[in-house]
Amino acid sequence: MPIRVLSEVVAAQIAAGEVVERPASVVKELMENTLDAGATSVTVDVTQGGKRLIRVSDDGHGIPAAEAELAFARHSTSKLSTVEDLDHIRTLGFRGEALASIASVSRVTMVTRHRDETAGAEVLVEGGEVQHTRPAGAPAGTVITVENLFFNTPARLKFLKAESTERKHINTLVTRYAMAYPAVRFRLVQEGREQFHSTGSGDLADVLVEVFGLDVFREMVEVSPQPPPRPDVPPVEVYGFASTPALSRSDRGHIVLFVNGRVISDQSLTYAVMQAYRDLLPQRRYPLAVLLITLPPEEVDVNVHPTKAEVRFRVPDMVFAAVQRAVRAALSGQAPAEGSDFGDPYRTAEPAWGGRSSARNDLPTPTYPARRPVVPGEEQLRLELETLDPGRYVRSQEEDYSAIPAGPGQPARPRTLPILRVVGQVGAMYIVAEGPAGLYLIDQHAAHARVIYEALVEGESLDRRALQGVTVQFPSAAAVEFETVLATAGETLDALGFEIEPFGGATFRVRVIPALLVNEDPQVVLSALVDAAQDETGDSGVLSLNERLIRQVSVLVAYKAGQTLDYDAMQGLIQQLERCESPRADPYGRPTLLHISGADLAKQFGR
Ligand code: ADP
Ligand code: MG
Repeated sequence: MPIRVLSEVVAAQIAAGEVVERPASVVKELMENTLDAGATSVTVDVTQGGKRLIRVSDDGHGIPAAEAELAFARHSTSKLSTVEDLDHIRTLGFRGEALASIASVSRVTMVTRHRDETAGAEVLVEGGEVQHTRPAGAPAGTVITVENLFFNTPARLKFLKAESTERKHINTLVTRYAMAYPAVRFRLVQEGREQFHSTGSGDLADVLVEVFGLDVFREMVEVSPQPPPRPDVPPVEVYGFASTPALSRSDRGHIVLFVNGRVISDQSLTYAVMQAYRDLLPQRRYPLAVLLITLPPEEVDVNVHPTKAEVRFRVPDMVFAAVQRAVRAALSGQAPAEGSDFGDPYRTAEPAWGGRSSARNDLPTPTYPARRPVVPGEEQLRLELETLDPGRYVRSQEEDYSAIPAGPGQPARPRTLPILRVVGQVGAMYIVAEGPAGLYLIDQHAAHARVIYEALVEGESLDRRALQGVTVQFPSAAAVEFETVLATAGETLDALGFEIEPFGGATFRVRVIPALLVNEDPQVVLSALVDAAQDETGDSGVLSLNERLIRQVSVLVAYKAGQTLDYDAMQGLIQQLERCESPRADPYGRPTLLHISGADLAKQFGR
């Protein structure tokens, strides 16, 4: 092919690839324009995850009718005219590329009226070609509607993720801008339903309550700007909220940073936040934080990335130190009460016996009563558990329990444990049993969770109970996550005994719940499902969503510590455990039983 200059439209489509990667990028660019226009109220309306329609309306200053069409030309901007301007950019946009790029890969209608003009204008651009510009009556402000995104770039269309994924991204984006601009009233409507709104009160705390819910917000502390270490250091203000050590997440994606009103991703600053928690959180647990960082525009270069997702600081160490100091200052005095978790083996992040990581800190409380009854001698027991060599949980090759005849009426599944005889219950938590090779202590909760888990994985289902008029409301992000769960794991939820449906906004109606959970708070139960869906740490990452849900429900319905069991219940549980595929660990990999051999006992007693 001979060399030739690309047409405007083709050039714009290629450039669009950098700016408009997915529907959320369109939302981002349009929202940034509304904020640059001084809007106090912004509405984002999306259908089909943005593939069908994205409409962003604002009450900003609008565009003069004479300039309306020009806004769509490449490199047209009202925000910058000389290269020196770049050094002290105070607007989010400045490249003059977004509208041109978006319009080259979709059909865009813009209706705008400048505050100082009486008549507005409407511009329609399709695939980069202006179709018409005409006068239009409109309130002051701008409404931009983007339809049929990527209709003329099939390759890009094909690579779009599922609508639910796009919806999630858009939700994240809008809620983040709402955090960065608490004085602006944001409203997000997806598929005709309001998903999120902020009040525009100017108070970040109000936005965080909307986004995370009050329960989470209560576990956060305010981070306030610290005076600079020396007067000659440029001021770096760090304001926001950070979680107390009682609240943590399994990935660092919940550390949200803004620099001069821009959502940014910056590994080093994320690390600065983590550093502030260095001795306060267990390994592989991460804080939640929302930090608005403000510094003089000359100190930060925002022009290093087409979507401006990354920035470069003139003195990175100075910003790093400021973030770390501010968060640390907020946390000082916030260290967890020493020993508050003492003796609760479920709350240790890492099983002491070196098994799989369990990441259990997010589990709802009903599974484990916050104050467990103290069991005499428990301390020694714990020690024993910790010093046990993991090899003991692996079945030795000589052991062949299948040689033991199954009793009448027993299922044909092979035995994986010897026949055990229940002796009694200790501390309403452990079952003491006797077997051919000595004494067994069985954690009733862990063992029951294992039994239920395997049954559910094999396709059995739980008994269900209908509920009347029970609804549960989620914070916005969790609602989106839950919608995804409903959409992708419907069959599993059904087998587990749930029937739940969207009920408008972030509300869901619970029609049916597993019979074993009728007495639990549905809000807590559903939140646990969301947590399970979000948990992709360590081993959880290799489990499918369905498996993670099954695992979570098994743990929720299993006997709890503190529950007194009668002899039949104990014997029944043990018989089921004897036939589990992996009877020695619960679905999270923690031990279900402790074996003390006859020889060990003899040794301990000096016989
Ligand atoms: P940039 O934001 O980098 O200047 P854009 O392509 O996003 O480039 O927008 C081009 C121009 O259109 C802006 O500089 C601004 O003057 C105008 N504009 C776009 N959206 C709006 C809006 N919502 N309100 C007022 N003016 C807008
Ligand atoms: Mg812009």
